[in-house]
Amino acid sequence: MRRKLVVGNWKMHGSLAQNESLLSAIKSGAVQLSRVDIAVCAPFPYLAQLKQELAASAVKWGAQDVHQLEKGAFTGEVSASMLADFGCTYVIVGHSERRNIYGETSRLVAEKFAAAQSAGLIPILCMGETLEQREGGETESVVAEQLDAVIALVGVQAFGKAVVAYEPVWAIGTGKTASQEQAQAVHAFIRQRVAGHDAHVAEGLVILYGGSVKAANAPALFAMADIDGGLIGGAALVAEEFLGICRAGQ
Ligand code: PEP
Repeated sequence: MRRKLVVGNWKMHGSLAQNESLLSAIKSGAVQLSRVDIAVCAPFPYLAQLKQELAASAVKWGAQDVHQLEKGAFTGEVSASMLADFGCTYVIVGHSERRNIYGETSRLVAEKFAAAQSAGLIPILCMGETLEQREGGETESVVAEQLDAVIALVGVQAFGKAVVAYEPVWAIGTGKTASQEQAQAVHAFIRQRVAGHDAHVAEGLVILYGGSVKAANAPALFAMADIDGGLIGGAALVAEEFLGICRAGQ
């Protein structure tokens, strides 16, 4: 039985003061939630605050992006070894906002995944289709391409220490959640595709759902066989909502 994982993605939100009250509520709520793994991914300037505030807590923390190379003349970028050096556990790679706004290709996302893992971080690999792709019947081929690019670069064994997040683009920040059946179908597809390479790795792989998850819809989503938790955007900024989602993973 896989443990559920709930990850908050704060995106480009927060301030020291807001984060402090959010983190203190999450920390105290998390004490009652020993059967679910919880993590928060914040903007780079706030990682020091996460490190300090969450030091004595079971809540893990991480970053939202990473550069694919180890070091060099890349002004503004942050490498995986720097994140690992600082104590991050997780890093999100291939979020649809990175793919769609910044033009990150599946090959680049795979390189980021590889860099994260070689530094000892756990990559959270995001994938998902746009509304147009779903309506065109391309959901499986889109997700397969995004997954296969990583398997081709690092091999399927790398998924033994990684997390996948299925996030239909049309459900992110829109208030439209995929139905539990729609999400389950894609999660099962992802797991089967990994199983095609290695059944054991597929069985242990944590696959999160992301896209307008709230405390109200989390229990139905998390009840599905292949949904192992959530990657949470908007609702991760509201302590009670986020904790409500975490409770659904208990
Ligand atoms: C996300 O940012 O990954 C996300 C799923 O956002 P939201 O929960 O707001 O849809």
